[in-house]
Amino acid sequence: MERRKLLKTLLAAPVAAAAQTSGGLPPLTIKDVKVIATSGGRQYRWVFLKIITSEPGLYGIGSAGNHYQAHAVIAAAEQHLKPWLIGKNPDRIEDLWQAAQMRTYWRNGPVNNNVLAGMDMALWDIKGKRAGMPVYELLGGKARDAVACYDHAGGRDRESAVAGVQASMAKGFRHIRVQYGEGGYGGGGFIPAGQGNRPEGGYQGLAFDEEMYVDTIPQVFEYVRAKVGFGPKLCHDVHSHLSGMNAVELSRRMQPYQLLFLEDVLPPEHIAYYRHIRQVATTPQAVGEVFSHPYEYLPLITERLIDYVRCRVSAIGGITQAKKIATLCEVFGVKTAFQEGGENDPVNQLAAYHVDISSTAFGIQEENAFPEAVHEMMPGAARIRNGYLYGSGKPGLGIDIDEKLAAKYPLGEIRGGGAYRTDRALDGSVVKP
Ligand code: MG
Repeated sequence: MERRKLLKTLLAAPVAAAAQTSGGLPPLTIKDVKVIATSGGRQYRWVFLKIITSEPGLYGIGSAGNHYQAHAVIAAAEQHLKPWLIGKNPDRIEDLWQAAQMRTYWRNGPVNNNVLAGMDMALWDIKGKRAGMPVYELLGGKARDAVACYDHAGGRDRESAVAGVQASMAKGFRHIRVQYGEGGYGGGGFIPAGQGNRPEGGYQGLAFDEEMYVDTIPQVFEYVRAKVGFGPKLCHDVHSHLSGMNAVELSRRMQPYQLLFLEDVLPPEHIAYYRHIRQVATTPQAVGEVFSHPYEYLPLITERLIDYVRCRVSAIGGITQAKKIATLCEVFGVKTAFQEGGENDPVNQLAAYHVDISSTAFGIQEENAFPEAVHEMMPGAARIRNGYLYGSGKPGLGIDIDEKLAAKYPLGEIRGGGAYRTDRALDGSVVKP
């Protein structure tokens, strides 16, 4: 062979091979992106992305859920992601994640992250189906037998809080979150509507009072611990309602009740106070439900100022980002407690499950159980038994969606725009959620 010809052959061969095959599998292309929005016949505002490939019958599903800005996510996915994504190679998850994030120029906001997460989960679903394996096998295989979950308990008074914990224990949960009083999050710190010293003509609704909350919650836990003992692992969610030294003081006063964790005792604007908390209390801290940017939790992890990272997988960009956070946590001895519960959907729950079960950094997962109608619409949705979450074990994420059933419950206009509720103090000022 001529020298020039030989050189040409040597240079051309590997490139041609790489373009044609991916580990012996035929090349794939993204043919279509469907946005599926449904209320599930209830009050859900679920948005899913279905990525359809060039291989007949091969598609993936991802959660782009955002309860408070669902229609913004739909528009971002349909008008902006879909035209960009069609024609691309679904095998290149990391590359697509990076390129899709930079595609919007401004990045790390919740809506863009939701869209990114929908794409990312669907791509992992496709890869798993292609490999004939559950996604956790591609992430390194099971690091535990099942994923432990914490249940939600609460009560309007101390007795019903105890009853709530006992009911969770009877269902098999070892980990239980205890909330208290009227008004949901912040219960124990609310002055009833119309009461208290208020400005003339001002706000008359439930009014949050920080010092009242800091006084009340430790007393509730003292009572609950006296009744149920120290067997169950208890946690409590402050939902960012406290500021500065009140957060430090609550962490200190909760120490005798040996919490699994105290959640979001501070809003993301004031995370520097975690340094003060660490100096005075050993109460473990779980943080980050409303975080969407990695640099919000980076210093908290690397300085070991917190014990659990609480972000939601669909709010941070999907499995690709969650796995990286879990690895970062592992290095610094921090654990994961991915947010689920409430308005979350079964696809997001499974995305967290696959990271949880394959990660050494796993701490706990928030529970979320769905009615049978949802299991019918989404076959393969995970199930909780005796305090543990189990996936379907099928290839990919292990879940599907019945599009006809989903279409029966379209996501229509959302009253009031879907805003998260606003809590206020006695003087009418806004309290951070
Ligand atoms: Mg929370």
